[in-house]
Amino acid sequence: MNTHERTCISCSKTLKGRLDKRFCDDYCRNQFHNAIKSPENNLVRNVNNALTKNRRILKNTFKSTPPPHQVHVEDLMQEGYVFRYHTHFLNEATQGYACYDYGVLLQPSGFCTIVQCEGNQVKKEKIAQVIKRYG
Ligand SMILES: [Zn+2]
Repeated sequence: MNTHERTCISCSKTLKGRLDKRFCDDYCRNQFHNAIKSPENNLVRNVNNALTKNRRILKNTFKSTPPPHQVHVEDLMQEGYVFRYHTHFLNEATQGYACYDYGVLLQPSGFCTIVQCEGNQVKKEKIAQVIKRYG
C-alpha cells in the first residue's frame, strides 16, 4: 500500500486514482500551464534568455580572440549581443558591464575589451594560461 499522499500540482488537493496522475482534471492542468505561460513569466524568461545569450557571446568572443580580447561594439551586436541586458557593473575606469562571469569594457574608440570577472572585479589572466591557449 502506498502511504505517500499525492497532491494536485495545480490546486494541492489530494489525488485519487492512477499513481502517475499530476492533476485533478483538465481544468487544473490548464490552470497550471496557463500560469507558466503568463506574461510575467514570459518577461522573466525573455530577460533570462537574453542574459544567457549575452554571456555566451562574451565567453565565445573571449575564447576566440587573443589578449587583450578586443572587438568592435558593432561586431558584438552583430553576434546578437544586447547592451541593455547585464547582471552588474564592473569596477573599472572605463564603463564596464558584466553578464555573470564575463564582462565588456567600453572604450571611446568604439572598441571594447572582453574580460572574465569575479563579482565587480575584472579577473586578470595569468600569463601561463595565455601562453597555453595561444602558444
Ligand atoms: Zn487540482
